[in-house]
Amino acid sequence: MSTLTLNKIAKSYPNGFKAIHELNLDISDGEMVVLVGPSGCGKSTLLRMIAGLEEISSGDLSIDTTRVNDLEPGERDIAMVFQNYALYPHMTVFNNMAYGLRNRKTPKQEIERLVNEAATMLELDHLLDRKPNQLSGGQRQRVAMGRAIVRHPKVFLFDEPLSNLDAKLRVQMRLEIKKLQRRLGTTSVYVTHDQVEAMTLADKLVVLNKGNVEQVGTPIEIYDNP
Ligand code: ADP
Ligand code: ADP
Repeated sequence: MSTLTLNKIAKSYPNGFKAIHELNLDISDGEMVVLVGPSGCGKSTLLRMIAGLEEISSGDLSIDTTRVNDLEPGERDIAMVFQNYALYPHMTVFNNMAYGLRNRKTPKQEIERLVNEAATMLELDHLLDRKPNQLSGGQRQRVAMGRAIVRHPKVFLFDEPLSNLDAKLRVQMRLEIKKLQRRLGTTSVYVTHDQVEAMTLADKLVVLNKGNVEQVGTPIEIYDNP
């Protein structure tokens, strides 16, 4: 059970530019919120602040009842899936997925159990000994998902994870992500500029514009009542 609460979150960059204005957002347990909006509206800034990769200028970010503003990325119980996969080229699929767990001193047997469980879910069992350059784009994206899943984090963040894939694979992976998120019931924030992807995935859509929330609603509420 995890909720994510953004209370008057704001971001001013060092040059004085206000990328996010006091923004409020409640994401309930198991919900998938999709952030959309024009390029430069602040989607990536917001996601990076949640991940702990960008400092929050003011406001409170909480997971359940814990304020996490001052926690390091690795201490937040959040896993992020990136557009460029961020896989280690010299490591096997197994080791790529195990990496974060090893950093956390997870016992060896537990690592094997968690990686094998994720590999089965993602249909990667037969690829565990390969290196990233021996995989297709879709398979690499699955490994990136696997790295996030093995940790059983409280929150998943997705930063345009499908934008490097071709159109056909994008549709397939979009459905897989939806199925997986439902199955795991992990509270998620997903950034995309693809309207169809947003409509397919979102329980709740948040439209950002110039650092403000312009609209919040279900896909039907937003796209049927522009
Ligand atoms: P999006 O992900 O929606 O395209 P971003 O979050 O990347 O938007 O950027 C939001 C705004 O903040 C943009 O106007 C961008 O130019 C600005 N911005 C991003 N990073 C910095 C930075 N390090 N310093 C100053 N301004 C920045
Ligand atoms: P965790 O999974 O424990 O959160 P990461 O694997 O994301 O940690 O990152 C651990 C460290 O490795 C960080 O210091 C990060 O900057 C670095 N790192 C992340 N991705 C890569 C990469 N593709 N190649 C080299 N170093 C990386």
